[in-house]
Amino acid sequence: MPIERIQRLIVDVPDFPRPGVMFKDITPLLADPDGFAAAVQLMADAGRAFQADGILAVESRGFIFGAALAHLLRLPMHLVCKRGKLPREVLRQRYALEYGTGELEIHADAIRADANYLLVDDVIATGGTAWAVRELIEHRGARLAAGLFLLELTHLRGRSALVPSPIHALLAYSH
Ligand code: AMP
Repeated sequence: MPIERIQRLIVDVPDFPRPGVMFKDITPLLADPDGFAAAVQLMADAGRAFQADGILAVESRGFIFGAALAHLLRLPMHLVCKRGKLPREVLRQRYALEYGTGELEIHADAIRADANYLLVDDVIATGGTAWAVRELIEHRGARLAAGLFLLELTHLRGRSALVPSPIHALLAYSH
């Protein structure tokens, strides 16, 4: 399937959830079986090259793509959640949001010190979320093999927040 067809299934919603934000709505892509299958297959093809040992999927839309990629790449998947959602001992990282701060958690026994992880999310915007996940895994002595995203908002420079870690996004938007 041409990448333009996948792109047409991502809808721009202006001023959501706040004035000035152009929200990328992926729900039409999820509702199109061929489009979704093509998108996750292309993401899997790109992700395979990083030879990761596991996938870290970020709440909540990252879970959708993370699960599909874990299945296609036959990799273990671990959940990175907002504070208070995971039931056992966690590692926690605070990070900057546009207004205030957020906190992400992962089960303490999910990260192996000698392993390389693929971080998966739908969108990379400022890169703050991805940066926090990298901090979590590096704190454990592990490595971020790459960040893998459906789409990148290039004007928000998330890629530079993650230097020197590689980033791959299927689609790039400058607005
Ligand atoms: P950031 O930490 O700034 O890179 O933001 C990444 C997270 O926010 C991702 O988990 C996205 O789901 C969400 N996000 C940020 N900006 C947008 C946007 N314009 N459209 C859709 N999702 C967004």
